[in-house]
Amino acid sequence: MEEKLWNAVRRLAPLKPRFVSVTYGAGGTTRERTHQTVKRIRDETDLKPAAHLTCVGASRAQIDEVARGYWEAGIRHIVALRGDPPQGMGKYAPYPEGYAYTSDLISGLKKIGNFEISVAAFPEKHPESQSFEEDIRVLKGKIDAGATRAITQYFFDVDLYTQFIERVRRAGITIPVVPGLIPIGNFALLKKFSAMCGATIPPWLAEEFEGLDEHPRKRDEAAIALASRQCQQLQAQGVEQFHFYTLNRADLTLAICNNIGIK
Ligand SMILES: Cc1cc2nc3c(=O)[nH]c(=O)nc-3n(C[C@H](O)[C@H](O)[C@H](O)COP(=O)(O)OP(=O)(O)OC[C@H]3O[C@@H](n4cnc5c(N)ncnc54)[C@H](O)[C@@H]3O)c2cc1C
Repeated sequence: MEEKLWNAVRRLAPLKPRFVSVTYGAGGTTRERTHQTVKRIRDETDLKPAAHLTCVGASRAQIDEVARGYWEAGIRHIVALRGDPPQGMGKYAPYPEGYAYTSDLISGLKKIGNFEISVAAFPEKHPESQSFEEDIRVLKGKIDAGATRAITQYFFDVDLYTQFIERVRRAGITIPVVPGLIPIGNFALLKKFSAMCGATIPPWLAEEFEGLDEHPRKRDEAAIALASRQCQQLQAQGVEQFHFYTLNRADLTLAICNNIGIK
């Protein structure tokens, strides 16, 4: 996995992304590895890393220590998240003496250093939010605490993003809300993950990808075509920044970027 990761970093670096973010395992399981990867990207490449950090499975003191470590290592960008409980652990509950929600985490981070903070946003609303209004209130709370960029959960119908942006702007939110795009590297896994995170797989997509995991080349071609089309539709609406969930599949993201003129 590590080899695959560094291969992806090397292959994608020439595209000169604005930043490269490194995810944090559910339940903090990869805390040490996230930390080391972020530091190594900073030390050994020209890329600007951003470290994901969640509230799960650690007290405030422990999270503050990780954040201080980042600040001392010269890492200035954190993607602040609440996180989800590890699989099979039921509903989310704040860790004893931990940060309860992302807005609390951001307030804590800002006491440690003036980090650049990106946060998550949900075109189809977060599955635990009762309404779109609650979701926008939560997003506003994160911005009030210091976030200056939102990255969306992946989506497949571009209209979902367009409607979400209209809602966000109507609520007076002006920060960049960067669309998150996932090139489909494994349809079975995507279905499983989407059911958990509340992202819809439209029927037309299921029809196209069902059975394609048996034919990886065909699946890759379809994945590249789909994400390229999404980017082009977004570009037509004036969107200029994209966040790719590469999952270390450099080939897919490279091909998509090529298709939209980033070489
Ligand atoms: C771009 C992106 C990157 C991600 N990276 C990771 C990662 O690296 N590691 C990982 O484990 N997960 C990651 N996730 C998943 C994320 O942790 C989950 O979606 C999580 O369930 C929500 O995180 P959040 O930061 O949006 O939570 P929050 O903004 O804290 O909100 C989540 C929900 O909690 C409730 N809530 C929030 N504030 C309050 C409050 N004050 N009072 C009562 N209820 C409240 C609301 O229902 C809200 O919808 C990522 C998601 C995205 C979109």
